[in-house]
Amino acid sequence: MKGILVTIDGPAGGGKSSVARQVAGRLGVVNLNTGAAYRAAALLALREETDLSDAPKLAALASRVSLDPDGASIDGERVPEPDLRTPEVSAAASRVSVDAGLREVLLPVQRAAAEEARERGGAVVEGRDIGTVVLPDAELKVFLSADPEERARRRARQTGREAELDRIREAIQRRDRQDSEREVSPLRPAEDAVVLDTTALSLDEVVSRVLDLAAGQRGVRKL
Ligand code: C5P
Repeated sequence: MKGILVTIDGPAGGGKSSVARQVAGRLGVVNLNTGAAYRAAALLALREETDLSDAPKLAALASRVSLDPDGASIDGERVPEPDLRTPEVSAAASRVSVDAGLREVLLPVQRAAAEEARERGGAVVEGRDIGTVVLPDAELKVFLSADPEERARRRARQTGREAELDRIREAIQRRDRQDSEREVSPLRPAEDAVVLDTTALSLDEVVSRVLDLAAGQRGVRKL
């Protein structure tokens, strides 16, 4: 029997990655972090000194990217996680992700990874447009939000850059704007998504709410 697909969307710093990883672990399914594919495309563009508004070049670079459990590969080779997480790659990923051609190339890449995972029991798929565009038929859609100040504090704590809180807050707000104002696949909850404001919730509380929702789904589908 096919497994469950859970989508987790929301803005940067809303706790999506930690929640997705833990929920996937508890459900015993694959964790797909689609941001890794955008980050890998951005890393390639930076390495090759590509003009980040050169659409045909960006689409060509994106076609070398694949999405794997917990990460992404370039030309079939796994990219080390720290290479995807630098501030330069974060900023470039947000810029290249406005490109419609690049998104078009990454769409089947994400769907293929999710379908493959579904055959093997299911997946938690995390991103910005997973519930709205990539997997509109997913069984459970969650949208995690939190106020920008709290998201900046979490990001600063996570990365040990408490002294740079102002800069982190500005970077988060800039990325929010870019992600929600872009024409293609803007960041917004799917109509059938459960929206959770995590500002006042601990990671454990968010994880347990998502697990409850998933248990409800599984019950309905008699898995
Ligand atoms: O989630 P993460 O911060 O790693 O994503 C990096 C960037 O990739 C985001 O700022 C966003 O612009 C883009 N992205 C996207 N659609 C997704 C996942 C990520 O546009 N599904």
